[in-house]
Amino acid sequence: MTDHLSLMNMTTSREWHLVRRPVGTPSPDDVELVEVHVQSPARGQVVVSNVAMSVEPYMWGRMTGAGPTTPYELGAPMAGHAVGTIVESAHPELTEGTLVLHEAGWRERAVLPADRVRVLDQPDLPSTVWLAALGTTGFTAYVGLLHVAACRPGDTVFVSAAAGAVGSTVAQIAKAMGCTVVGSAGSAAKVAFLLETLGIDAALDYHDSSLRTSLADALERAGVDGIDVYFDNVGGEHLEAAIRRMRDFGRIALCGAISTYGDRPAAGPRNLLTAIWRRLQLTGFIIYDHEARRPEFERVMGGWLRGGRVRSVETVRTGGIGQAFPALLGLLGGADLGKTVVELDAHGV
Ligand code: NDP
Repeated sequence: MTDHLSLMNMTTSREWHLVRRPVGTPSPDDVELVEVHVQSPARGQVVVSNVAMSVEPYMWGRMTGAGPTTPYELGAPMAGHAVGTIVESAHPELTEGTLVLHEAGWRERAVLPADRVRVLDQPDLPSTVWLAALGTTGFTAYVGLLHVAACRPGDTVFVSAAAGAVGSTVAQIAKAMGCTVVGSAGSAAKVAFLLETLGIDAALDYHDSSLRTSLADALERAGVDGIDVYFDNVGGEHLEAAIRRMRDFGRIALCGAISTYGDRPAAGPRNLLTAIWRRLQLTGFIIYDHEARRPEFERVMGGWLRGGRVRSVETVRTGGIGQAFPALLGLLGGADLGKTVVELDAHGV
């Protein structure tokens, strides 16, 4: 009887499993979309039906096993931020229909203990902002710019991957605080977006070979006579160029180095001596060390989003869970503007 009942309560969910560690750029052969049964929740648990999930560059490191975050297990579902609706609850305070944020992305449904879900507490904002400007992406931009690089009004700020998730948030915060903002991005369309939509002061397409003999020259031609803050998402040649153009006592927030991920050799920097001569400060940071600032960030960013000071720039990929891995590949290849979000349930977003 019990077996029959529990079978009746079972539903299915599709989830992406890592089946092989990528060598170089991830490929479709490294992953598999698997259908699993979802059990009813035990006491204290909830079943969440995911509405949207995030794909991010750090997932590449979790797939290969490189980097500071726990590697994904082989033969198990991958993980990452997602928002979802509670569809079954065995917890007295978490009712069905509640929207929650959690880390069981890469799947349609998840059974989670109550302490692994966070009720979305700014319900007037669209749920996807919790994966973008109001989530860890925006938090990274906020902490890196304001606390790691100690950016001040009037600074000249250079940000790489400026049309990406973190970069577009950095650019907007810096612009709103009265900085001169220069961004680099990988296409003419992204440069146009940065100039025309985000209103930054100068932008360059680092793929445009007609523009430059070196990235540092391109920065000079873009009117940058000195950088106070460089927010580095890319590493390699970008970091070297920024060091060449930094002002004395400039601050560099080392956030990411995507040009070197997957064991690609770094094109630089070969000019660290300049960092000594100019008394530069280069500080690496990992956002998870800064959790204590998250409530302050959510309060401030929630206000900025409502007031239109910052917009959550998002590319929403439709088509359900099957589109999640192609979306990750697209993101890594520079296909998207802002934060890449995969919509899993069009009714819930
Ligand atoms: P993005 O949305 O910026 O996506 C990555 C972007 O990187 C792509 O859109 C692409 O844009 C650019 N890119 C890809 N390959 C290269 C390359 N070879 N050279 C230059 N640019 C490249 O991702 P996120 O905003 O989520 O992350 C930005 C960076 O911040 C990443 O390096 C990430 O790992 C890091 N990060 C670090 C955190 C921390 O705690 N330190 C937390 C979160 C993110 P384009 O078309 O412009 O080339």
